[in-house]
Order: sequence, then C-alpha cells, then structure tokens
Amino acid sequence: MFQSVELSPGDPILSLVEDFKRDDRAQKVNLSIGLYYDEAGHVPQLACIRRAYERLASQQDRPDLYLPMEGLASYRLAVQHLLFGRGSEPVQAGRIATVQTLGGSGALKVGADFLHRYFPQAELWVSNPTWENHISIFEGAGFKTRTYPYFDPATGGVDFEAMLACIRQIPAGHVVLLHPCCHNPTGADLTDEQWDMLVPVLKERKLIPFLDLAYQGLGRSLEEDVYAVRVMVAAGLEFLLSNSFSKVFSLYGDRIGALSVVCPDEGTAERVLSQLKVTVRRNYSSPPVRGAQLVDIVLGDQALSGLWQDEVAAMGARIREMRKKLHEQLVARLPGQDFRYLLEQRGMFSMMKLSPAQVDRLREEHGVYVLRSGRVCMAGLNERNLPPVVEALAAVLAS
Ligand code: PMP
Repeated sequence: MFQSVELSPGDPILSLVEDFKRDDRAQKVNLSIGLYYDEAGHVPQLACIRRAYERLASQQDRPDLYLPMEGLASYRLAVQHLLFGRGSEPVQAGRIATVQTLGGSGALKVGADFLHRYFPQAELWVSNPTWENHISIFEGAGFKTRTYPYFDPATGGVDFEAMLACIRQIPAGHVVLLHPCCHNPTGADLTDEQWDMLVPVLKERKLIPFLDLAYQGLGRSLEEDVYAVRVMVAAGLEFLLSNSFSKVFSLYGDRIGALSVVCPDEGTAERVLSQLKVTVRRNYSSPPVRGAQLVDIVLGDQALSGLWQDEVAAMGARIREMRKKLHEQLVARLPGQDFRYLLEQRGMFSMMKLSPAQVDRLREEHGVYVLRSGRVCMAGLNERNLPPVVEALAAVLAS
C-alpha cells in the first residue's frame, strides 16, 4: 500500500547539520542552523528560565492538565503586553485575539488555516527570499504563494523602491507576509522611515498584513524591533502577528509562541478568537503547557522580566560585536571588497556574497558550514572560531 511513497529530499538545513556532525575535523564551524550560541559556543539556558524552573518545581504538586485550546490565559495577556505595550490602546480595548501556539511555526499554521477559511481567494505574498517554511506552511494550508522583490544582492540591503512598486499592484484582500526585524535569511531590514511609507500603502490597498516576529530584541532592542507593530496599530490597520520565543528565550524544544489578530473592536476579537480556537482544535486540540508556564513566570515577575530583558540585550549585543569583528577582520584581509553590509544587516543572519561554489569550498576545504544561499548565522560566531572563519572566507573570496 505504501510502496509508492517516494522519499522526501529532506530539509537542506537539517541535512547540512547531519553532515556537520559526521565531519571529524577539529576546526569545523557550524554557521548553518538558526540557533543562538553563547560566547562559549553553547546554546544557553537563560538564567531567567532557570529561575522560572525552580519556581515551577516548588509548585509542582498538581497534575498537568490540558490547557484550553487558546492556551494559558496569563501567558496570552503577557504576550500582548510585550508585543503591543501594556497600556496600548488595542490591549486596553480588548481588540486583540491572541492564542498560544507551537512556536512561531504553529502561529503561522493557525494563521494560515484561519485566513484560508475566511479568504479562500487570497494569495500569500512573501519577500524574495524568505524563510522557506513560510511558503511550505501557507501552501500546506491551501494558499498560492507569490513573491515581492526585497533583497538587493548588490547592496546587501532592501530594494525598497521595487518592493513598494510591487506591493502597490497587489490585489485587495491578499495577504502580505513581512518580517518586522532581523529578516531571515538576509538580515536586511526596512528602516523606520520605510515602514512609515509602507504602512499607508498596505492600508490603502486593503491588504492583509501578516507580521512574523521570530527575533524580537536581537536586532536593535525589544522595543525598537517592534516598530512595525507600533506603526500598524497607529495607522488603525487590522493585521496578524505571529511571534516565536524559541530564540529569545532559548526555548527551542518547548515549542512556544503566539498568534495575535488585531481587530477593529472587542466584539470582532471575540469572534476571531472563537474561530482561532476552532483552528487549533482541528489541528492539535490544545498547546503544550511547559513553555507557556515558564515564559509566563518570567514576564509576570518584575525582577525576572528585567533579568530576561538584560539577557536578550546581551544576546543582541554579542551578535553585533561579532558582526563588527568579522567586518573588521575581513576588511583587513580583503581591503578591495566592501563588507559594510555585515554591519548594516541585523539579527542572527547575514546573506553573504558567496556563490554556491564558494559555499562548497568553505565546507569542503575549511570545514565552515553555511547555507548554499550564502546565509551565515552570525550568532554562531565567537572569539575562538572567528579566526578560522575569517581565514576560510578570505581564502574563498580572494579568488
Ligand atoms: N519565522 C521565522 C522568520 C523564523 O526564522 C522561524 C524560525 N527560525 C520561525 C518563524 C519559526 O519559529 P519556531 O522555531 O518557533 O517555530
């Protein structure tokens, strides 16, 4: 019966990680996968989460019951406070429908299913390029996907003119997926001024914006990285916002995130929430409990929340420091080449100007693993692996 099932080619990122594990060279460096590593080269457990676990352990004499479909109530409110601002008008007015989800991916899936049910004709527009799974998740939910111009390989920045010109042509009612900060895979973000220009176009064209926030705090700061959210709220837009805590709480395996739908009024938010619950019920019934408890403990406690903010700020600062050092050392080695884009791009990733052949040489000759597109995980760099990485990049970029 199942003999006709063909083998999936698998995920190119995960198969690179497998190749990396099998590589027995001592100098090997993995800059392919999107994980935040600390200076010692470890994926950290945050101190705020350690404290939250201790608090949880002291309360753990009750059974783990199912959470409701929409997730833990106090967590959902804490998410709204973090993303929109505690005293913000939409939060105060109760016009945001938020559900706890299985990471950012779960938020995208719930959002995609919900949108496809109510707007079956809508197509999804994503940046060229975007995180591959955006396309897979939305196509899996029944969407046709298209791309708008975004990354300009010549500058390493955003081709904003081309992006805006395309978005002006998108038919009303289509969904436009945008990265509020730390664009994956390029690191090229819109400036605040560009968001100011884009938002009125989205509104005028009656498009459905879907913001996907996976790296809040790793670009500029927790507050500055949600500038796009603030502008959309101020413009009175209705939109969706998925957020992931995988990276910023270093809680990858707990699968913790949320989907928020900003509605025009409280009554609409109530109805939307009821339909998001239906979507959750149909997919996996209810979300897991642990990650929500941990994040809720941290965000709900002033001291722990302050500790978390410091820890996120430190992660962001470390990435920026690595960008600075990589830039400095590459410029010293290859003075004729322009690496300013490394300083301008933000977050965990940079799209480096590397051909697939150069990427192969990095891996085969130097044991440095990056994605074939040229995406390099800046958060995987540290003082120890920087010299061999610079050496390898200088070698392949020199010829
Ligand atoms: N959106 C973007 C842009 C991402 O880069 C990622 C993960 N790397 C996600 C969503 C998914 O997040 P999660 O791992 O929490 O599912």
